[in-house]
Amino acid sequence: MSIAENISDIRKDIPEGVTLVCVSKYHPIEALQEAYSVGERVFGESRAQEMAMKHEVLPKDIEWHMIGHLQTNKVKYIARFVSLIHSVDSLELLSQIDKSAEKNCRVIDCLIQLHVAAEESKFGFLLGEASLMLSSKEFQEMKHVRIRGVMGMATHTDDMERIKADFEAIKREFDTLKTTFFEKSDFFDTISMGMSGDYQLAITEGSTMVRIGTTIFGERKK
Ligand SMILES: *Cc1c(COP(=O)(O)O)cnc(C)c1O
Repeated sequence: MSIAENISDIRKDIPEGVTLVCVSKYHPIEALQEAYSVGERVFGESRAQEMAMKHEVLPKDIEWHMIGHLQTNKVKYIARFVSLIHSVDSLELLSQIDKSAEKNCRVIDCLIQLHVAAEESKFGFLLGEASLMLSSKEFQEMKHVRIRGVMGMATHTDDMERIKADFEAIKREFDTLKTTFFEKSDFFDTISMGMSGDYQLAITEGSTMVRIGTTIFGERKK
């Protein structure tokens, strides 16, 4: 199956209103060009320098989404052009994004990454922690970041009940943050959850944005 065929199959599965992020990390420029040629404009990368290099050579109407753990000292590579950072996992990182965005005279859209999976290795705020950040004076003084919603990953398991419970937890936390902090903010509208193995379930559980790599581009070579 070609990349174009894979995309066409996935599109049939995704209802209107759910955004497809083509996760192109580790894949060569030609793979992104093929997805671009059939109309995809949203690409997800996990490393800042790789994203910057691809941004440099590919058409400028692409929306670049950072989905991987971002170190504060790497924000500068992407601050000028990144469309959405899914992986905000600390106040310190958000503060750095705010500073870099200000230097570039822009506001950067961000998602709060939630940690609901059983694995210890996954980054993100535990349930309840995001509220503490949003209540902080430091956050309230930031003028160059806009929180659009949340991102999360389900536990890596075949147990569909566990995956479903993780997605429900992400959705519930989104609803709580919405009511507590963003009731009147129409821009707080994004729930980024669902990957190649679980995106259909994620959509059933309320996802508005799925991040799909392997099903589009095949296995990644690291
Ligand atoms: C790599 C990655 C994906 C894509 O995973 P696939 O299983 O290849 O679809 C989605 N989200 C995040 C955060 C990732 O790091």
